[in-house]
Amino acid sequence: MTAYARPSDLTAALALLAGGGWKVLAGGTDVYPGAGAQLAGDVLDISALGALQGITRVDGLRIGACTTWSDLAEADLPPALAGLQAAARQVGGRQVQNVGTIGGNLCNASPAADGVPPLLTLEAEVELASARGVRRMPLGAYLRGPRQTVREADELLLAVLIPERALQGQGRFLKLGARAHLVISIAMVAVRCVTKGGLVTEIAVAIGACGPVAARQPGAERALTGVPLTGLADRLRPEDLNLSPIDDIRAGAAYRREAAFEMVRRALAEVAA
Ligand SMILES: Cc1cc2nc3c(=O)[nH]c(=O)nc-3n(C[C@H](O)[C@H](O)[C@H](O)COP(=O)(O)OP(=O)(O)OC[C@H]3O[C@@H](n4cnc5c(N)ncnc54)[C@H](O)[C@@H]3O)c2cc1C
Repeated sequence: MTAYARPSDLTAALALLAGGGWKVLAGGTDVYPGAGAQLAGDVLDISALGALQGITRVDGLRIGACTTWSDLAEADLPPALAGLQAAARQVGGRQVQNVGTIGGNLCNASPAADGVPPLLTLEAEVELASARGVRRMPLGAYLRGPRQTVREADELLLAVLIPERALQGQGRFLKLGARAHLVISIAMVAVRCVTKGGLVTEIAVAIGACGPVAARQPGAERALTGVPLTGLADRLRPEDLNLSPIDDIRAGAAYRREAAFEMVRRALAEVAA
């Protein structure tokens, strides 16, 4: 590290980034393990930027990029965000949750990032800012591949935006790892389900760690929309899911497929109950 800056003003932070060469640091829970013995280059610590903090309710929800997993887990949020809050409680352990941020999770863009599937079911958009201006896009368009996003080097992720229409219904998140806690996901699923008169009127299903990026499952959503809540899980068929898992150190592709199918069924059974 040759220089360290911790501005409290967004314009000042974006001006520094525009100059190039800065490594953005939020909670550091991905940056430090990835850096090895020493952080190389200049460090822009964004933890004092008020514009990136907190959860506010204006035309939906605005979640500042520096909101920690603990802040999210403990916030009073609609049941549609129960899946995101369950994910928040399963990112690492309590120490990681106290400093790790939702923005860091989305900028690191691991295929196993636990924040992504629940945010996809919430129709989340991301807001990016640079000295050149501000732009917004759906989360699915922001994520390009394993550890790849469309964020430019001079841009900060400011916030995650959840539209009012996606604050309806019940959310669920299930994660499978090699053990119960402090574990990288083998597969994780998120579901958000809206019902009326015992029927599913809207459903969003997303699966992570079973492809280069987490993705919504339109086949499953078509199969499950308009059907009775009773027996909902039994209506899902394996061919409703579009997955492209890999074999890796954590699990084989076939196991991931089977696990993801069973986890979606369990999440559906939970929302139906
Ligand atoms: C022990 C341990 C267990 C973990 N367990 C899990 C787990 O179970 N599930 C999981 O998903 N993750 C896990 N992680 C990874 C990590 O904790 C999360 O991804 C966390 O959300 C990262 O947030 P952060 O604020 O620490 O990011 P940082 O490490 O500060 O940054 C991550 C990356 O994003 C960039 N960045 C951060 N914020 C911004 C921003 N606002 N704008 C632009 N760029 C930005 C940084 O430059 C860096 O490239 C674990 C990490 C550790 C060390």
